[in-house]
Amino acid sequence: MPPEPLVWQIATVSAIRGETERASSFTLSLPAWRPHRAGQHYDVRLTAADGYQAQRSYSIASPPAHTGVVDLTIERIPDGEVSPYFHDVLEVGDLVEVRGPIGGYFVWEPALGGPLLLVAGGSGVVPLMAMIRQRAAAGDTTPTTLLYSARDVDDLIYRDELDALAGDGLRVLPTLTRAHPPGWTGYARRVDEPMLAEVLAALGPDPLVYACGPTLLVETVAAGLVNLGVPPDRVRTERFGPSN
Ligand SMILES: Cc1cc2nc3c(=O)[nH]c(=O)nc-3n(C[C@H](O)[C@H](O)[C@H](O)COP(=O)(O)OP(=O)(O)OC[C@H]3O[C@@H](n4cnc5c(N)ncnc54)[C@H](O)[C@@H]3O)c2cc1C
Repeated sequence: MPPEPLVWQIATVSAIRGETERASSFTLSLPAWRPHRAGQHYDVRLTAADGYQAQRSYSIASPPAHTGVVDLTIERIPDGEVSPYFHDVLEVGDLVEVRGPIGGYFVWEPALGGPLLLVAGGSGVVPLMAMIRQRAAAGDTTPTTLLYSARDVDDLIYRDELDALAGDGLRVLPTLTRAHPPGWTGYARRVDEPMLAEVLAALGPDPLVYACGPTLLVETVAAGLVNLGVPPDRVRTERFGPSN
């Protein structure tokens, strides 16, 4: 039987949680919820009183086991059309039009195995977090490294949860590009090929890679890994926005 076509539905905002100064998670209750795969996204459509519409994609942060709801984690882009609406206008109980889940390529589930290298820039961590949450919920021990680029330590989305989940084969390696606290021993620069080489060496051969974030980061990661001998068909990418 062919899958039912995706339709727009009206979700209710059932919770809002601040993650960092610039990012918040929005729990949406969906009347026509469908199971999703970690890495998929929803489309959001806003309609103004004059009929003008703006549509954007947002990755699902919650694991597939959370039925009836999805969490979207949205970074506020100051001069944006849609993300400031979520941060500045939407309140718990408000309605928002969405369609999903969408995407079949940038997805992971434990059956796909690893070792897994997840590389995130900024809010690019969102679909990777769904994978990490699913891995944890399933009790899966696939060796997994998250290399996560953020401006500073306070800009690391899901920091406490990642700290708590680390171990059991999960390594979390933040790299801070603008500022780092005194005594910081982690990476403190943009992701580059030598950094990828170090991370790969510790992870073992033939990793499955998911890279997500600004275009420049994703392109650096994809090109760097292929230079380092990772087969291109093991590298999956998702670009979130302009090259910054
Ligand atoms: C498959 C997919 C999944 C996505 N998932 C997420 C997610 O989980 N969380 C999330 O926060 N975003 C996500 N995005 C990005 C999101 O769709 C929007 O592009 C983003 O929220 C900006 O929309 P806006 O309407 O606020 O800004 P716009 O009105 O589109 O842009 C305003 C200005 O900001 C610039 N800009 C646009 N996007 C960015 C950016 N990411 N960083 C810096 N500057 C930008 C634009 O070039 C423009 O100058 C995803 C994108 C894709 C394609």
